[in-house]
Amino acid sequence: MPDRIRATVWGENVHERKNAIVAQVYPDGMHDCIADGLREDAALEVRAATLQEAEHGLTKSVLAETDVLLWWGHAAHGEVADTVVERVLGRVWEGMGFIALHSAHYSKIFKRLMGTSCSLTWREAGERERLWVCNPGHRIARGIEPSFEIENTEMYGEPFAIPPPDEIVFLSWFEGGEVFRSGCTWKRGNGKIFYFRPGHETYPIYFHPVVRQVLRNAVHWAAPDGRPWIDSCPNIPIDQAHEKLVAKGPKLHKEGEKGFR
Ligand code: ZN
Repeated sequence: MPDRIRATVWGENVHERKNAIVAQVYPDGMHDCIADGLREDAALEVRAATLQEAEHGLTKSVLAETDVLLWWGHAAHGEVADTVVERVLGRVWEGMGFIALHSAHYSKIFKRLMGTSCSLTWREAGERERLWVCNPGHRIARGIEPSFEIENTEMYGEPFAIPPPDEIVFLSWFEGGEVFRSGCTWKRGNGKIFYFRPGHETYPIYFHPVVRQVLRNAVHWAAPDGRPWIDSCPNIPIDQAHEKLVAKGPKLHKEGEKGFR
């Protein structure tokens, strides 16, 4: 394992270039702001990648050198190539951590990982959000007060069409009265997954010090525990069985044949 946890922040980088308000809030792009928040932790080695790069900046070698991938997308989920989605999925199964941010609830990769529609209710009114820590003992909540507020945000409300999380780390209350499971964890294959709700692009949410602390904590939590494990479905020949084995009964495949059983 490398000394530092290698995090890649992926951003679709669309609204920052097309919407004047978003460009004003995030002049260097949201992905760079999120990456800067992670860089406050010297234990993290951080790079950013965007939709517009070749293979969306998520080549095999970049993903092979990524311990935790953070994903921000909203306007261009459909433009993400299925080959890249499958590549990310394979790395999560191997053990790469995956952190889905805000509107990434509707990204191809998050829906694929969850296996559900991931729909929710929403409202854009600049209202206040209060996030409550559900488990102060969780690694992702380390150093976070019992609750914290974001003054202006978009509302996401229940029902949130996700499979039941392994754990709910944060629960949100909104000024308009709704509540939402804002910080949820799952495991898929060997990969740890965290969904974190805050992050609407017209507000400076990724500059918020507590939001940045949560993301740094989440990278530490989601980093792989061991070496990548690749399920390539190998055939074990009879003569290589650990105990002496004599074949009996009819067989579908020739001895040593490769491929699916
Ligand atoms: Zn939003």
